[in-house]
Formats: sequence, structure tokens, C-alpha cells
Amino acid sequence: MTILFSTGSEPGSPRGQPAWGGGSDWVSIHGAVELVRPITRSLPLPVLTSSLRSSAPRNDSLRSQPLSTDAQFDDPYSDFRNARYSNAGLLNERDEIKLGTQLHREVTKKFNLTDAGLDRTERIGQRCAKASLRPGMLYKFHVIQSRQINAFSLPGGHIYVTTALLRLANENELASVLAHEVGHIVARHSLKTLKASQEYDDIAKQLGELTGVAGDVARDLGVGLGRMIGAGFLTVHSRDEEREADFLGVRTMPRAGFDPQGMITMFQKLQRIEAEDSSLLGSLFSDHPDAGERIENTRYEIARMKRR
Ligand SMILES: [Zn+2]
Repeated sequence: MTILFSTGSEPGSPRGQPAWGGGSDWVSIHGAVELVRPITRSLPLPVLTSSLRSSAPRNDSLRSQPLSTDAQFDDPYSDFRNARYSNAGLLNERDEIKLGTQLHREVTKKFNLTDAGLDRTERIGQRCAKASLRPGMLYKFHVIQSRQINAFSLPGGHIYVTTALLRLANENELASVLAHEVGHIVARHSLKTLKASQEYDDIAKQLGELTGVAGDVARDLGVGLGRMIGAGFLTVHSRDEEREADFLGVRTMPRAGFDPQGMITMFQKLQRIEAEDSSLLGSLFSDHPDAGERIENTRYEIARMKRR
């Protein structure tokens, strides 16, 4: 399947929300698996992939940096601290919501949605959403019946977690996963992926012609949205995007009243499961065994938030 491009810096917009810039009060979170297993075939679901990259050698920073309090070279999230987020240059929010409605319908065809654990997910998820950098979006949380541990999000505020993940995660850990998924929506990762695809013009045009914003949209888009979901096209993200969602998530947690340490223990649980039975995590997670790095980055951010 095709994979996304990395995000790099955000198109700045004067109307975008403020970034969680350097020098604020954050915390960071988790990384979980975004996976969900298709009922019919075995689709690889996006898993809580990890994202951290290990570029800058840590020791170098000590040598080359002046004795500043925060060595830039050590900051795994330096690319994201001043990012501003908006729909500028992408689908506008109204069309994003329409697209989300259509994509959600495809998800309901492929997966078994359940009410089990939905109240808990909704309660924790809405707290994270309100504390995020995109609090104005209407978020909708969904639970998928699956033995695989997974979570993913779609444009328009739709966030999915599996029953297996709900069983695995305690309150703070679930918050870390949900805040990470909200982070993907804040950063418009799927919209950026879509924008770069060949189908973008077609989809944008058809969304513009649809009248109903939500609920029952009279007709399906004449494009393969179902195939997109099946291939994980909009739910599989690049490592940079995962890192950005981790960053946004961990910063959101304390603002939402959760302990950001939950992101670390969530990663540790995933690491353990990967060692014991990686089939529970789906292929993506096993392809990106960098939970250790995500844990390190999360620790870094938590320490940084405590200092400020
Ligand atoms: Zn993710």
C-alpha cells in the first residue's frame, strides 16, 4: 500500500490555531497501535505505529551546544513545536466532515461496531478532544469488535478503537491512544495524504457537489472510498506523522486531566505483546519496532513539561 509522505512543516495560516509552542505546559503521550482487523479478509490495519526517529546522536548535543537549558539536538519534536494547524490548502472543514461521513459508512461495512466500552471511550476521548488544538471539531468515537489491538482515525473527527485495546488499556493509557488519534486529526494527516493522491481532484469536486453535510448523504462518491479504507490509505501514517501525533497527544494529556505516564506504560504493554504474540498487533506494528524510541521521546517530553 502506498505510504504517506512526511509532513514537514505545516502550511502556516493566520487563522490556524496556536501551536503548542516551545515553552508551554505540555505533556506527551503514547503510541499505540492503529490496527483493526477486517472481518472478511486480513487487511493490515494501521497500528499504532511508532514514529520516533533516531537521528541526532544524543551525545553530540552535549558537546556542540552551548549550555542552554534545552539542547535543540536532543529535542525529538523540534519540527512540531511551532506548527500551526488549519485546513488551508486542503479540503475545507465542511467537505472534510462530509468525507468523514462517507468513510465512516465504509468502516461500518468492513468492521463490526459495538457499544461495548463505547461510553468509556467517549468519556475519555471527548476530554482529550476538548483539550486538543482542534477543540471545535465534532469528534465521534467508535468501538470495533476485534481481537487485535488497534486504533485509528479518519477525517472529520472519527476515531476508532478495538475491544482488545479497551481490555488492555487502563484509563490513562486509553487516553494516550485517543489523544494520539485526535492528534492525527488536529494535524490533518489524512487530508494531506489525500491531497497528494491522484483521486484528490475527483473527490474534492464531488464533495463540493454533495449537499448534505452529515447523516444520510444521498449518494456515494463515485470513487473507491471503500478500497481506500481497506488499503489503509488514509489510516496508515508516516513515521514523522506518528511522531507528530505522539507529540500532540502527550501534550494534550495533562491538559485533559490525564497522567502522561500512561503513554509510556501503553507503549510498554505493546512492546510486551509484540514479544509474546505479535499477531495481536497486526503487521504494521511489527514492521516498526521502535516502541523503545517512542518511550524515550515521551519521557523527554514529560520531563520538559515538568520543567515549565
Ligand atoms: Zn498514529
